[in-house]
Amino acid sequence: MKCILDMVLCIRDYILDTGRGQQTCKVCGRPDKFDFQVPDIIWCLIVPPKYQTKVVCLACFDDFATAKNIDYSTSLQTIYFAGSKASFKFEVCGGDR
Ligand SMILES: [Zn+2]
Repeated sequence: MKCILDMVLCIRDYILDTGRGQQTCKVCGRPDKFDFQVPDIIWCLIVPPKYQTKVVCLACFDDFATAKNIDYSTSLQTIYFAGSKASFKFEVCGGDR
C-alpha cells in the first residue's frame, strides 16, 4: 500500500531533519516545533501527495484539512511543542469553530 511506504519515507525524513537540528515545514518553510501524529489514513486523506513524505507543520496540516473540510480532531490525540527553552504537551479538546 502506497500510503504505508510514504509514511516510512516520512518518518525517515523526520529523523534526518531532526538529526540536522531544527526541522522546517516543507509547505511554508517555517520551523516546525509542534510534533503531532495522526493515523496514516488521515494523513493521506488530508495532505496532498507531493507533501505526504515531507515535514508538514500543524498549521499547514490544519489548512489542508480546512480546504478539504476534514475534521481530524478525533484523530489527533496529543500535540507536543518542542521549543528551544521549554517543551509542552497539549491535549486535544475539539475542533468546532
Ligand atoms: Zn507549514
